[in-house]
Amino acid sequence: MQKIENYINGELISSIKEQYIDNYNPSKGEVYSLIPNSDKDDVDLAVKAGEEAFASWSSTPKVKRAEIMLKIADLIDENHKELAHAEALDNGKPLFLASHVDIPRASSNIRFFATAIMHNANESYHMEEGFNNYTLSQPLGVVGCISPWNLPLYLFTWKIAPAIASGNCVVAKPSEVTPMTAYLFSKLCIEAGLPKGVLNIVHGLGSSAGDAIVSHNKIKAISFTGGTNTGRIIARKCAETFKKMSLELGGKNPNIIFADCDFDNMIKTTLQSSFANQGQICLCGSRIFIEQSIYEKFKTAFLAKLETHTVGNPFDEKTRMGALVSKDHLEKVLSYVELAKEEGGTVIFGGNKLIIEGSENGYYMEPTVIEGLPYNCRTNQEEIFGPVVTLIPFETEEEVLTYANSTPYGLSATVWTENISRAQRIANKLDSGIVWVNCWLVRDLRTPFGGVKQSGLGREGGFRALNFFTEPKNVCMAY
Ligand code: NAD
Repeated sequence: MQKIENYINGELISSIKEQYIDNYNPSKGEVYSLIPNSDKDDVDLAVKAGEEAFASWSSTPKVKRAEIMLKIADLIDENHKELAHAEALDNGKPLFLASHVDIPRASSNIRFFATAIMHNANESYHMEEGFNNYTLSQPLGVVGCISPWNLPLYLFTWKIAPAIASGNCVVAKPSEVTPMTAYLFSKLCIEAGLPKGVLNIVHGLGSSAGDAIVSHNKIKAISFTGGTNTGRIIARKCAETFKKMSLELGGKNPNIIFADCDFDNMIKTTLQSSFANQGQICLCGSRIFIEQSIYEKFKTAFLAKLETHTVGNPFDEKTRMGALVSKDHLEKVLSYVELAKEEGGTVIFGGNKLIIEGSENGYYMEPTVIEGLPYNCRTNQEEIFGPVVTLIPFETEEEVLTYANSTPYGLSATVWTENISRAQRIANKLDSGIVWVNCWLVRDLRTPFGGVKQSGLGREGGFRALNFFTEPKNVCMAY
């Protein structure tokens, strides 16, 4: 069985204790590889490698850093097929999604930050009375990047790219649930000639390897994407050593549909925003609010579209929804369907585990639509993170804003209306870091990305990410 290795000080090595964790193929429900069960000692080794590489990497000219990163991006593109296949196998997502979204975005992330550093400028303030100020943006040192399982290589590179572009060395940990593409990525970094110690990838559990990264007193900042509860634990730990932190956490996003919307476009996109990646995207719109006058029309059209939304093996071309990422996660999502029923909801589509011929042990479930629940019940307040949406009718803008803003989360929101004044009124009032009007998941990498309330702290994207990974130092000079 294939053994994944850590990438430390430029080499692929096993964990010091040589212990392993099973890695599952969710579409078959079978163990297909082994992951190093790294701990504090492995993280210490990775931090040491990062510290040793820092002086040289941070003083490497930006254009040279960019050159190496662009080579990594090119290698991702050249190995697109293998990476997309590995992502689908490791995560359970449809191959077409990995091919069209995950892997292209991974190379875009690297390319974007490799070139961004060449356009970054520093501030300067001239004081008339004979003093001049200029600001240096200096890399922090060794930083930690921890990512989740839903968009494995996509989110892993989204963190690593701005960190190394701005001259830091990195100790990174992908999710133990989906480690494979991070491992393949480490091979590409070696091939591209990334100097040893600049990026160190330590595989293992959150509670051991992840905790060791967050607690390490030589690590200066943590960039984390994952669940809100994990974010809370990490924030407490970071407080002990006053680490900088960027937290991208959970969501329970509203999808608000007004009667005057472009109906066909809305239905097509709502199918995506509900069930893409099996509903396992932090930006999915799991609460669908529909203006009362089109509620029945919406329901009929949405359910009809769902009939053609094929669930199946990720490698089948017809598949639009693959397997959920793990047995535990499938059970968690199904338990929310039971909760919805207990809370008085009616399942009007799906709701069940699915057995797929030839992949009987895979973690499949039907896309699920529930109605008849109040906006403030647990089903409508807690993050489910699976292919489950609820339908809730509304009458007025004021009412739907109350519903939409009622959760502890505030990551993204979608609004469907052809009335531009209303679109702007609503966008202004939503408690949300990102608002899409008449579209979903359209991303310009320069824009701020992140959530309000318990969806996170700080913003990623564009120069904001470079600012996070640098410390401004003001120099004041008399003349
Ligand atoms: P998770 O919080 O369980 O794990 C995320 C990462 O943190 C993993 O690598 C895990 O090993 C590590 N980890 C766990 N405990 C840790 C600890 N105590 N110390 C350090 N590291 C630890 O999240 P998940 O289940 O992998 O991902 C799903 C969650 O991620 C959902 O809540 C989803 O909304 C969220 N998410 C948010 C965004 C965003 O941009 N806001 C994007 C994708 C996913």
